[in-house]
Amino acid sequence: MEDLKRLCIHTATTKPWSVEIALANYARAGVAGITLWRDALEGRDPAAVGRLARDSGLQVISLCRGGFFPSPDGDARRRAIEDNLAAIGEAEALGAPLIVLVPGSDPGQSLEDSRDQIAEGISAVAGRARDAGVQLAIEPLHPMYADAKSAVNTMKSANDMCRDLNLDNVGVAVDVYHIWWDPEAFAEIERCGASGRLLAFHVCDWRSPTEHFLLDRGLPGEGCIEVPRFRKAVEKAGFQGFIEVEVFSTRHWSSDQTRYLEKIIRAYREFV
Ligand code: ZN
Repeated sequence: MEDLKRLCIHTATTKPWSVEIALANYARAGVAGITLWRDALEGRDPAAVGRLARDSGLQVISLCRGGFFPSPDGDARRRAIEDNLAAIGEAEALGAPLIVLVPGSDPGQSLEDSRDQIAEGISAVAGRARDAGVQLAIEPLHPMYADAKSAVNTMKSANDMCRDLNLDNVGVAVDVYHIWWDPEAFAEIERCGASGRLLAFHVCDWRSPTEHFLLDRGLPGEGCIEVPRFRKAVEKAGFQGFIEVEVFSTRHWSSDQTRYLEKIIRAYREFV
């Protein structure tokens, strides 16, 4: 299982499983890393989940997700900051070195205003994250989500924001689903790596036709993204971290999850 030593799976990928069942099954299959979604921690002590992960032989790679900073309403922005501080506390307790930020956006204001508020929100929590030993990764999201989920939609936009923020624990999460269409993606991956800010790499595939723009992701090999080309690009840019399989799919969630885990591993071996 040597070849799985850089494979990480997101709890959301096998959503029907509780975190305890996911950990047991990932460990048995030889998966080396896990990224926890906050809903998987509900009703649990994050420190205990972190211990269970390590006792199972898995490394905790990141916590998903923080972010969602923008709003025209100042109280909502303050609540978002509070929620991100809470996520930092959870990551610290878990022993997760990274939080993935879905930046957020609000259709009631301009994208520029949303981006300004994202930068303000990150600045407001980055110090606490640094004290906790936690890095923050801005994940650019596909422009189809620009209205309400992310005003940061390209690698360039994420790189520019990191440059302007100039915080040593803030970088970028590269997710192929969101950036595969972008002619500048490869140049910006190189730029991201050169600045030392390429913090995470998420893989899945874009099914064609896609039936649902959130819940119909494919495993690598099931769609049209050149996943191996992106892997080569991030590695050439200096990234040596885990390769994280992050697939939201009602189709896969409705299948037998044990068989599905075998499929995930096969997809990782053959198409990443
Ligand atoms: Zn992602």
